[in-house]
Amino acid sequence: MSSSSINLTDQVYEYYLSVTLREDEVMRRCREETARHEWAGMQISPEQGQFMTMLVKLLDARKIIELGVFTGYSSLCMARAMPADGKLIACDVKKEYTDKATEYWKAAGVADRVELRLAPALDTLADLLREGEAGSFDFIFVDAIKEEYSDYYPLNYRLLRRGGLMAVDNVLWGGSVANPDNQKAETNAIRAFNKMVHEDDRVDMCMLPVGDGLSLIRKR
Ligand code: CA
Repeated sequence: MSSSSINLTDQVYEYYLSVTLREDEVMRRCREETARHEWAGMQISPEQGQFMTMLVKLLDARKIIELGVFTGYSSLCMARAMPADGKLIACDVKKEYTDKATEYWKAAGVADRVELRLAPALDTLADLLREGEAGSFDFIFVDAIKEEYSDYYPLNYRLLRRGGLMAVDNVLWGGSVANPDNQKAETNAIRAFNKMVHEDDRVDMCMLPVGDGLSLIRKR
């Protein structure tokens, strides 16, 4: 028995999904169609999606921001967990991806809860602050440009309400952050981000080794 997280062999992972996964038909179609995409690795895993569904329900989140939409699996997981009057601001720069996401949102009946903003994430976050939205968001999911993680952070912090939560994806970056020989720009950016969050006493934080590493950061 190890004190670290269990190693998910293929056999354990199959079992794990078999006793947990609750996807509806639209979500399964989104995930399976996206798995054939050339950038399929950008899609979150289904268990991470279901975890985010749970977070949205636990927070009773009605206002959410997503930075990095891709083809919409994560936004589906969050939007369907919100009440009908909930609002998810979905931020991405690639219309080619978000056109697919929009199809799935419509098919799932949650399109009216999603407000797509096709612009660089930093611009949209600054716009939201200018629009008077500081302190109003319950949940922010960050999965956009890794070199910008540390720049999103102070804006996201201002946009969150007290007790609101940021969930930040890819914080273990395929394990490369633990390899000092890896000095790539994205790897160093994630290292700097992780260190900054760890040292920020304005927030509660933890990091889960789910997917590619997911940090949960709660505004005190
Ligand atoms: Ca990701």
